[in-house]
Amino acid sequence: MPSVLTQFVAELAAGTLKVVDLTQPLGPDTPVIGLPPIFASSPGMTIEQISHYDDKGPAWYWNTIRLGEHTGTHFDAPVHWVTGKDLADNTTDTIPARRFIGPACVIDVVQQCAENPDFLLTPEHIQDWELAHGPIPTGAWVLMRTDWSKRQGANFLNVGEDGPHAPGLHRAASELLVARDVLGVGVETVGTDAGQAGSFEPPFPNHHIMHGAGKFGLASLCNLDQLPPTGAIVIAAPLKIVGGSGSPLRVLAICPA
Ligand code: MN
Repeated sequence: MPSVLTQFVAELAAGTLKVVDLTQPLGPDTPVIGLPPIFASSPGMTIEQISHYDDKGPAWYWNTIRLGEHTGTHFDAPVHWVTGKDLADNTTDTIPARRFIGPACVIDVVQQCAENPDFLLTPEHIQDWELAHGPIPTGAWVLMRTDWSKRQGANFLNVGEDGPHAPGLHRAASELLVARDVLGVGVETVGTDAGQAGSFEPPFPNHHIMHGAGKFGLASLCNLDQLPPTGAIVIAAPLKIVGGSGSPLRVLAICPA
């Protein structure tokens, strides 16, 4: 009798299951979150060639990369925030690998974000989604589909005179997702809090609440428009950086074609 894994690879081969890459390209042009100048900033990516089939390495090509842990499509570990600093297994190397895989719940708020770049997801939005699609299961990745990843150039960070404007979560929504015991939340924006969230109470409430509860974050996702509201699984495994607060990663979703 075929196991679920035998059937899984057979369905991938047959094309009845598809793999959706939720990852943005990572390079020197990858946008990085900006902070007020009183705080240290995270460097974008630089890439420097070591050799390219030349006198520095006649048969091989490789590069040196330098970047902040929170660059491009990346994972936020609980230790990233002060509220999560004393939790067990809170760094990229100590989180059990089992916790990188879960069912995806995709909440579509594209229309709301088109009308209001400062849109905040509320418990009501989550509860409306649950009425339509069923309860968010324990251990889910909750993905907020905003189509923000389709924005080009400066419109992605969308910085105005009063700071960045991008959607996020109301603190009560983060509290509800903690109550649902999710793995974490994934967004298409540069970070898992709204652009204006530095002035919220508490500042950056999604980071404050989720990481304080040992939950994760996924930022700068794309291709959420290719996922069903339920029925996909997401694999989001950060690099095993010792003591790492986060890491760029390849986020893969698998769902019916
Ligand atoms: Mn981050």
